[in-house]
Amino acid sequence: MLTRAPDVLGLDQDERHRQPVTAPTRATRLDAQHPGDGEAWLDLCRRWEVLQEPFLRTLFTTFPPVRGPLQLLRRIGTAEALRLARFLLLPAKRMGEELFGGEGVRLLLAGNAVHADIPVTSPVSGAYGWLLAMLGQHFGFPVPVDGSGGLADALARRAEAAGARLHTGERVEHVAVSGGRVRSVHTAAGTTVRVRRAVIADVSAPTLYRDLLPPDAVPSWVHRDLDRFAWDTPVVKLDWALDGPIPWRTPEVGGAGTVHVGRGEDGLVRWSAVIESRRLPESPFLLVGQMTTADPSRSPAGTESAWAYTHLPRGVDDPPSADELARRAEGVLERFAPGFGARVRHRTVQRPSDLQDADPNLVHGTINRGTAQLFQQLVFRPVPGLGRPETPVGGLYLGSSSAHPGGGVHGACGWFAARAALRAHGRAGLLHRAATSAVLELLQRSGRE
Ligand SMILES: Cc1cc2nc3c(=O)[nH]c(=O)nc-3n(C[C@H](O)[C@H](O)[C@H](O)COP(=O)(O)OP(=O)(O)OC[C@H]3O[C@@H](n4cnc5c(N)ncnc54)[C@H](O)[C@@H]3O)c2cc1C
Repeated sequence: MLTRAPDVLGLDQDERHRQPVTAPTRATRLDAQHPGDGEAWLDLCRRWEVLQEPFLRTLFTTFPPVRGPLQLLRRIGTAEALRLARFLLLPAKRMGEELFGGEGVRLLLAGNAVHADIPVTSPVSGAYGWLLAMLGQHFGFPVPVDGSGGLADALARRAEAAGARLHTGERVEHVAVSGGRVRSVHTAAGTTVRVRRAVIADVSAPTLYRDLLPPDAVPSWVHRDLDRFAWDTPVVKLDWALDGPIPWRTPEVGGAGTVHVGRGEDGLVRWSAVIESRRLPESPFLLVGQMTTADPSRSPAGTESAWAYTHLPRGVDDPPSADELARRAEGVLERFAPGFGARVRHRTVQRPSDLQDADPNLVHGTINRGTAQLFQQLVFRPVPGLGRPETPVGGLYLGSSSAHPGGGVHGACGWFAARAALRAHGRAGLLHRAATSAVLELLQRSGRE
């Protein structure tokens, strides 16, 4: 069962906002902070109303998307489509400056962009901020009752009810290939699973192509392109058992399921710059979850079960740096919620290596299977030319968030892979397989030149 996390909130020293409140209520609040921002917010919401269906359809379709863009064009016309394209490419900071006069609402966009691990000065970060802010306003950020494991359990129950036999708890070490097709999967415990139809790999692209497949089964252009594969930034995760709610300086923050904690828009720009220059930020940006707020079953009445994560610079994922960043993260919370530390009854810190030990997919403590920046999204994800779930090995599909559309608990990556596998075995399968091999062959040839 999913419960609706009541809120997503951008918290700054000066400006605080809470959602999902209805769009008109938010507009009134924004207008009070800066006249004109209310109407600008409503404009943004109206744009979302018109675009959300074709936009989400475009984003959550295997490449190349056809129906979504056509639907978009029909709705808004070519001239407006060009304006929309420009809007979607904007960095979050620029988008905020173009649309709003007050910093509070600009921070809301910026905080949501950074949630997606894209610097606020990078192209398309504005679109991510807009997307997450609108989803937050309309739906909240839902969480499974009793914890995220409930989601996997529900999927497993559904699969078993449909006749699937699930075998878990063994690490896949090798995927065997012959004659260009996947033949079997081998686990560290010695189990061999012979492949009748398809394998969907839920691992990162580098893990699949470099560690699991025999080197000669992977075309050399894939190896070369993977040399340029960019991981997202590692994270340090903190979990706390608190004997009361987080004592935010502004009590209304306590109603939010997810809180973005940063030091203003310029603070976010500086934070990204520090991370990019491979230094530890003095005042890290935090994503904070107040789980009991969203799901009272998470801890006894009157207490709180909270977590936060924050990013380390790429390549700086050693334990001392992680410990120091965790200390600074708690310092940030103490500043925004004086007395926080005194409420902590139990605390765990997961450094990047702990995260990877818990889930080998969290390579170096990264949570997205590759950066979500534009140069590695859409047709470029995970590498140029492999923007669909099919791989150069027949019957093998990439279903993890290394594939389009990337990280997040939306399930789209696995769904696309499953649909591609089913299609290849359906009535049009022969044609589909021939077309896919022709495109991959073309890429292989151009990669050799
Ligand atoms: C701390 C944290 C907070 C997050 N917060 C959010 C959030 O608020 N909202 C959101 O949308 N997303 C969030 N995410 C991101 C989200 O969890 C991921 O994007 C998503 O789970 C990726 O799905 P996946 O299928 O690619 O991989 P996973 O969910 O990692 O699933 C892969 C599975 O395969 C297993 N596996 C890996 N290698 C092997 C192998 N060789 N053999 C056998 N099994 C293997 C793994 O153990 C794992 O069970 C968060 C992630 C983390 C770590």
